[in-house]
Amino acid sequence: MTQDLAIDVHGLVKRFGSKTAVNGVDIQMPRGEVWGFLGPNGSGKTTTIRMICGLLKASEGRGQCLGYDIQKDANRIKVETGYMTQKFSFWGDMTIRENIEFVARLYELPNLRRTVDETIEKLGLTNRQKQLAGALSGGWKQRMALAAVTMHNPQLLLLDEPTAGVDPQARRDFWDEIHELSLKGMTVLVSTHYMDEAERCDRIVYLANGNKIVEGSVPEVIERSGLFTFKGEGQGIR
Ligand code: ADP
Repeated sequence: MTQDLAIDVHGLVKRFGSKTAVNGVDIQMPRGEVWGFLGPNGSGKTTTIRMICGLLKASEGRGQCLGYDIQKDANRIKVETGYMTQKFSFWGDMTIRENIEFVARLYELPNLRRTVDETIEKLGLTNRQKQLAGALSGGWKQRMALAAVTMHNPQLLLLDEPTAGVDPQARRDFWDEIHELSLKGMTVLVSTHYMDEAERCDRIVYLANGNKIVEGSVPEVIERSGLFTFKGEGQGIR
């Protein structure tokens, strides 16, 4: 393990009963980069992400995340990562501020009030903080979720299809935010089906049936595998 790697996992396997969801995946991801995690539904992206951040125990394989053993130091990893699930949701009947405050309490952040104020201000939601979160559009909800999972200033962000179903402009705004976080030194692994998002990544990993099929920059992957035969905003990679 070199200290320059945020993720360094080898031969990860996950079985659920007789089903092998992930079948020997290796990932060596340098700190500070933005990587895209691609592949059809059911190819094992979520399961791999959950093994990396210690939420799921690997059936086989080993590795480190942020220098911590994924099998033994799961609690440490959870503190230092921000994980946004596909179904990250807020309480629609609580205000924007109450929702942000709730997450800040979960992280037991010091200077809670100040952090909440800063988070809301950064989102540009100061004037709307007393509105119910349920009234926000899908794009706003995702931006709010991103702000919530980065409030504790994690070293690594794991985002599982954060922009699924969100309109193109909101997706661009979301990605601008990801790049801002990356400039501040955060490492970001994002699973996505969108080609325009893959193109904003330093590198992509493509999974199918629990196996890593190819890894590289988008041009390298196209050249080597011909996986992507069409391009364009909003188009998926399946
Ligand atoms: P992706 O994120 O690429 O859509 P997943 O990691 O969610 O893929 O799922 C990979 C495979 O593992 C799928 O076939 C899924 O049905 C299966 N799977 C995921 N979680 C469980 C579980 N808890 N129990 C049984 N099968 C699961």
